[in-house]
Amino acid sequence: MQKIAIIALGCPKNTVEAEYLLGVFKNKYLAISDNLNEADIAVIHTCSFIKIAREESEKYIRRVLDVKKKTGLRVYVSGCLPQLLKEKMLVLFPDIDGFVGTGTLKNLPELIFNKNFNSFLLPPGGLNNSNYRLLSSNIPSTYLKIAEGCGHKCSFCIIPTLRGRYESRAIKSLTDEAKALANNGIKELILVAQDTTNYGKDIYGVFALDKLLTKLAKINGLKWIRLLYAYPSSITDKLLEVFKEYKNICNYMDIPIQHISKNILSAMRRPLSTVAIIEKIKNKLPDIVLRTSIITGFPGETKKDVNELIAFLNQGYFQYVGVFEYSNQKEADSSKLNQQVKAVVAKERRILIENTQYEIFKAKIDKIKGTTLDLLVEKCLSKDSKYHIKGRGYFQSPEIDGSITSTTNSPLIAGKFYKATIKCVRGYNIEASFLD
Ligand code: SF4
Repeated sequence: MQKIAIIALGCPKNTVEAEYLLGVFKNKYLAISDNLNEADIAVIHTCSFIKIAREESEKYIRRVLDVKKKTGLRVYVSGCLPQLLKEKMLVLFPDIDGFVGTGTLKNLPELIFNKNFNSFLLPPGGLNNSNYRLLSSNIPSTYLKIAEGCGHKCSFCIIPTLRGRYESRAIKSLTDEAKALANNGIKELILVAQDTTNYGKDIYGVFALDKLLTKLAKINGLKWIRLLYAYPSSITDKLLEVFKEYKNICNYMDIPIQHISKNILSAMRRPLSTVAIIEKIKNKLPDIVLRTSIITGFPGETKKDVNELIAFLNQGYFQYVGVFEYSNQKEADSSKLNQQVKAVVAKERRILIENTQYEIFKAKIDKIKGTTLDLLVEKCLSKDSKYHIKGRGYFQSPEIDGSITSTTNSPLIAGKFYKATIKCVRGYNIEASFLD
């Protein structure tokens, strides 16, 4: 039986797509391998939304092509990099065996098995659904991609070009997949899309995330349902009501605001009413834990804009802030703006914002010291007659918000929830003591 290995780069949406592909290939009698040296076929599912993501994708392609020189495995590239570069892919990587973009991901099996797919025609889109999904990790937590594409026109972003217009997936199809995942032991479901709060507008004519969440919250076994990538201007009162109503919807939301100064928000072509929206969320859900993303060094950004941002962050609305230096890319409209900010200044401002936010984070955790919560254990490693625990609280999204760490005298089971008391911070990790 031939062996296939898939490398998924970039965002959780790419992880979900790679898992759909794994499911399809397993169903086509290929053995799944995570060892390139023994694989007959390799797929690199790429990301290219900013420069560093492109460089990482290109680095992985070169690395796999080096393995090809030794083992002769077939190499295919998929996703956002081919979507961006199109036929230039073969100029840059003449030794690959083929490529598909985002909207043609579903054609990858045909390309691999029949080698007769015209991969130059690359409509944007994504693999939004599949009857087969093979989870790539064994932790009881996974992502559910509820829509593809994006209808916004943020001036710094090329994702609408790479992924096409917004396409919601039907509530029935999503709840069927969620039930199957819960039956397979998934306890945490993380909802992702380019913009999760726009869900349903295209297929139901109204924002329908509240309806979807209500259905998901009733699925047995789902202990945590988490919302990422909320878009400020599509947060409805109904949505916030659903957060209040269902205990298994995490009192947590990721809502990228990118900046707060109206000068910068209008140049980014983003909602100007962000402060009011954040205040509305906090009024309705005072204890909700918020995460956001901020860009520093956007063209035209002044010290005054940065000070305004720091003053806003110091109001303590957010527990977590991911800060990114502006990435000037020629495909994005913002590259044509005047007053480009020097990279070194963008970096200084990133560090300034990160340091500001770390103090806010510490103060927030200080306030919950001594609190006992249900924590999800993800790892339990025994060493020196102690058990080293890694896990998360409802207020921590995987991979981005740090972890809970602890040592215990007896082993804890990964995938189970245990009561533990918050003790202190260690960087962005939080030390806790389990009641064992
Ligand atoms: S909402 Fe997000 S994905 Fe859509 S254009 Fe803006 S930054 Fe890009």
